[in-house]
Amino acid sequence: ASSSDLIRATLFPGDGIGPEIADSVKQVFKAAEVPIEWEEHYVGNEIDPRTQSFLTWESLESVRKNKVGLKGPMATPIGKGHRSLNLTLRKELNLYANVRPCYSLPGYKTRYDDVDLITIRENTEGEYSGLEHQCCREVAEKYPEIKYEEVVIDNCCMMLVKNPALFDVLVMPNLYGDIISDLCAGLIGGLGLTPSCNIGEGGIALAEAVHGSAPDIAGKNLANPTALMLSAVTMLRHLELHDKADRIQNAILNTIAEGKYRTADLGGSSSTTDFTKAIIDHL
Ligand code: NAD
Repeated sequence: ASSSDLIRATLFPGDGIGPEIADSVKQVFKAAEVPIEWEEHYVGNEIDPRTQSFLTWESLESVRKNKVGLKGPMATPIGKGHRSLNLTLRKELNLYANVRPCYSLPGYKTRYDDVDLITIRENTEGEYSGLEHQCCREVAEKYPEIKYEEVVIDNCCMMLVKNPALFDVLVMPNLYGDIISDLCAGLIGGLGLTPSCNIGEGGIALAEAVHGSAPDIAGKNLANPTALMLSAVTMLRHLELHDKADRIQNAILNTIAEGKYRTADLGGSSSTTDFTKAIIDHL
């Protein structure tokens, strides 16, 4: 393909395990001949006064221009007097919805084998800003073909651990969505597995794993790249590159199902790079 056929997407490798798992995604995309050209942006070590954070204005402009991107985890140092990088991205790009799918992986045994749900987390308002309106009901009335039910958060937690198959899509305010989607990750094998995609103003889609920068295992070639890779798959689906998305998703799921190569968080002993190679072999 000539470079004019390529779709430009912004890539933030991020902090901690971010660069290692972003590298896995780049390798798999290359092997699957995905027509994406990555525009890489790193977190700086000086505050950009235009964004009041370590993310530069140019990084934000890259996402605004490309409209699609993938971000690795970004650490939030506590009490360092600058704006959180994740909050900067969400607020500046108005990424108001974070879509977090979570489903049981065939061949990887957990307490449940029938989880298949999506948490949609409001990303810019909710408890963080004290704004509350009951918007869901109004939207639900316009789509009578979708069964709408309300459930209070404490009861929801109880129902989720008792029988997660009761749920298909959970629409949540910011804080609840963050907590509930980690609970969901726990149902299917942990944070190494769950992807997400931030959807925002003007059709921007910035995919990212649900997990953070995992400083405890950073730089050790131990991280599970599945969550970031499946996030990249959501980006491909947003671009309607479904053939490539299917091919990569199947290779990931088949590698895990086969059980020969698994990272430590799934009880295996494979390194990030060996697991990535196995996925490429399954393409
Ligand atoms: P974390 O998600 O980084 O780690 C929690 C646990 O899960 C750790 O034991 C870690 O080793 C494990 N883990 C996470 N991802 C994994 C993977 N891909 N493979 C294998 N194991 C994995 O949460 P934390 O420790 O609370 O946060 C660390 C940093 O990440 C903090 O600075 C936090 O602010 C930041 N963070 C960023 C994001 C984001 O960028 N969206 C999200 C959450 C946390």
